[in-house]
Amino acid sequence: MSEVRHNWTKEEILEIYNKPLMELLYEAATIHRLHHDPNAVQVSTLLSIKTGGCSEDCGYCPQAARYHTDIDGNELMPVQQVKAQALRAKASGSSRVCMGASWRNVKDGPEFDEVLEMVRTINKLDMEVCCTLGMVTENQAKRLAEAGLYAYNHNLDSSEEYYKEVISTRGYQDRLDTIDNVRKTNVTVCSGGIIGMGESIEDRAGMLVALSTLSPQPESTPINALVAVEGTPLEDQQPVEIWDMVRMVATTRIVMPETQVRLSAGRTQMSQEGQAFCFFAGANSIFAGDKLLTTPNPDVNEDMKLFAKLGLNAMKPFTKKVQPKSVSAEESEYQPLGENPKWTRPEHKIARNEEAKQKAKEIRAAEKAE
Ligand code: SF4
Repeated sequence: MSEVRHNWTKEEILEIYNKPLMELLYEAATIHRLHHDPNAVQVSTLLSIKTGGCSEDCGYCPQAARYHTDIDGNELMPVQQVKAQALRAKASGSSRVCMGASWRNVKDGPEFDEVLEMVRTINKLDMEVCCTLGMVTENQAKRLAEAGLYAYNHNLDSSEEYYKEVISTRGYQDRLDTIDNVRKTNVTVCSGGIIGMGESIEDRAGMLVALSTLSPQPESTPINALVAVEGTPLEDQQPVEIWDMVRMVATTRIVMPETQVRLSAGRTQMSQEGQAFCFFAGANSIFAGDKLLTTPNPDVNEDMKLFAKLGLNAMKPFTKKVQPKSVSAEESEYQPLGENPKWTRPEHKIARNEEAKQKAKEIRAAEKAE
């Protein structure tokens, strides 16, 4: 087994990223085999339990209320609907459900209580439950853990330097503090980022320094390729080349040998061959997306067809860590503290975010005038 190092430097990571591709692939695939079953890939389903209307200004995100995009916002999804979606995801091969809410941070109150009930409900279906709800305090993380949460997702998105070029309403340190709060529980950490936002290769390496020097390293790291959405500040970004994605996956695999490296957003723009390269380079988890929300009959599953072609198996749940127990709300040890903490708002100006906001205002004014 190769050792897990927590002292990677940016220079070392850049050297790995820039290796001749065949050498990079060989090294990554070798490390992958030492730590994982190379034929097993986890399938996760993303469920947007609360969409749109978000107060943040993340330059890549169509859910930010300040930009004008095609996203229809909705209220928190009822628990029974979440359960029905989770059952369908399970039937189509998913072992994990990731519930996302477009919140800046978690606030104690009825909506968070509902989310805790969703966690208990899905855990009882014997599926891994992941949540991505924004920043969380230690007490909130403990309440999620007690409900039976398996993983908490909180992406670093990019290097600390480039983060400031994409988001002005939240601080990088708050992201790290949230990961730290999750680490005070037995919930696993899922944290990664996005490539193709205009960042340099140094920024990609910088993000991997930030992730790999966490101790322990995240159990799961999503590598997203930006999907440029009209109306967002990053709408004009060109898609990343598949080779950038392959290099990023391979480098992540080498510096974080035990982590599940997750191919996430942007996979629909990749060819089957491109995805196969990523699996060879060490990706062992995919996001099946929330198409179950919009597709009434999900039996035609392209991912399963690709798995069959490549001889891959969908990983069983709790392969990496035992299933947590769910404590009922009545027997809970952790009481809500009424928390709605004020996390940092740097509020520096990002020209393209300001432009997209201004454009959205003009479109809305024009729509109103019609
Ligand atoms: S916090 Fe999440 S939902 Fe809100 S704008 Fe950023 S990425 Fe989108």
